[in-house]
Amino acid sequence: MNHETSRDLYDRALSVLPGGVNSSVRATQPYPAFIERGDGGHVIDADGNRYIDYVMGYGPLLLGHDLPESVRAAIQSSMSDGPMYGAPTEIEVELAEFVARHVPSVEMLRFVNSGTEATVSAVRLARGYTGRGKIVVMQGGYHGAQESTLVAGDAENARSSSPGVPQTFAEHTIPVPFNDSEAIEEVFETHGEEIAAVLTEPLLGNTAGVPPVEGYHEQLRELCDESGALLIFDEVMTGFRVGGLQCAQGKLGVTPDLTTFAKIIGGGFPAGAVGGPAEILESFTPAGDVFQSGTFSGHPVAMAAGLETLRYAAENDVYDHVNRLGKQLRTGIADIVSDRAPGYTILGTDSMFKLVFTRAGATDIDEACIPGYRQTPDSDCFDHCPKTGADVESAETDRWDRLFRPAMKEEGVFLTANQLESQFVSDAHTDEDVEQTLEAYKEFFE
Ligand code: PMP
Repeated sequence: MNHETSRDLYDRALSVLPGGVNSSVRATQPYPAFIERGDGGHVIDADGNRYIDYVMGYGPLLLGHDLPESVRAAIQSSMSDGPMYGAPTEIEVELAEFVARHVPSVEMLRFVNSGTEATVSAVRLARGYTGRGKIVVMQGGYHGAQESTLVAGDAENARSSSPGVPQTFAEHTIPVPFNDSEAIEEVFETHGEEIAAVLTEPLLGNTAGVPPVEGYHEQLRELCDESGALLIFDEVMTGFRVGGLQCAQGKLGVTPDLTTFAKIIGGGFPAGAVGGPAEILESFTPAGDVFQSGTFSGHPVAMAAGLETLRYAAENDVYDHVNRLGKQLRTGIADIVSDRAPGYTILGTDSMFKLVFTRAGATDIDEACIPGYRQTPDSDCFDHCPKTGADVESAETDRWDRLFRPAMKEEGVFLTANQLESQFVSDAHTDEDVEQTLEAYKEFFE
């Protein structure tokens, strides 16, 4: 493949954009593919190279790059009426009604513009509503570029994970290992009265998709109920992807107090939301006194794209299709690496999939983990697979970065930049795309 144009564009970008990009993960080395356009389940880069695309905008593009006519028409009609108004529009109400009809925890929504803004607002709402300060998060979870969650370490030793985040933020955040029943119990024993919320992804989508073990979310639900803390599910990635229109909470059967959304809810345009019962949501200004506001919030074009995307998914067999292909990818990859186990683990559910390179012998992951091929790859709660963020963070990111991802790119398969971030199947992907993808995985491992 020729990459000259991408290389030249990256060279120009490095002079005017820090690191040459506007979101850190995009800066794949030695230079990223600059994308010119999408085509169904594929992207075409500035040099004309075509890739099967499993990045899918990092999750928002449930329907792929060619939007169905109904979605395209709604977006174009909204745009031709004028970009935005700073006044309410009917489409915000319609999207809120649609989401409230389908997602168990949602009665009301406040729309924002991104996943980060959604989690920032949810954390402020939880603190304002409960009058408490501390937030519990999962190690290996990700909730966007926000101060309260850019925190590493553990319950005894939380520290900010980025320069620029004052240590005082970390003092209000308690990181715990995901799926660790004793650790969360202990945190509630010590800090129960101070905890405003437990904030967790239903499954750790930013750590390859580590699933919850049986009973973990139920335990979180109980502990929050007993102490008066709120349970917040960050469904920015899983929302309208895992569990279809009910989201992961519907599939898991655990109802959080608050839910954060972004990605698919904007149908490929910048949108996010915080959802929950009126009793809590009405604490937001102007109904209540927890300040929240935004010039672009409820942007009509993004609302139209989100609503028509979800309507299309509701009226067609989108979830059957993407989940079937997701399962084919997980089982297919598991077969390919089966004789190399236990060096690999396949994670994911529904339309998410990821092959994790575990570092043989370096951690107890080898004992803890029966490799993916021996599991049922579509089950949510594998008995023997990585259970915490740390289990996955010990994977060989170097081999992924330097060898695997670039090799797959040369084979025409576009994967997420990071060994730890999930990959996504869209409605536009075909059986042929999956076959071709599995051939590329096979070739690499042979
Ligand atoms: N929460 C989760 C679970 C996410 O996956 C992400 C982004 N990948 C975010 C929050 C932040 O969303 P955004 O990038 O739209 O700010």
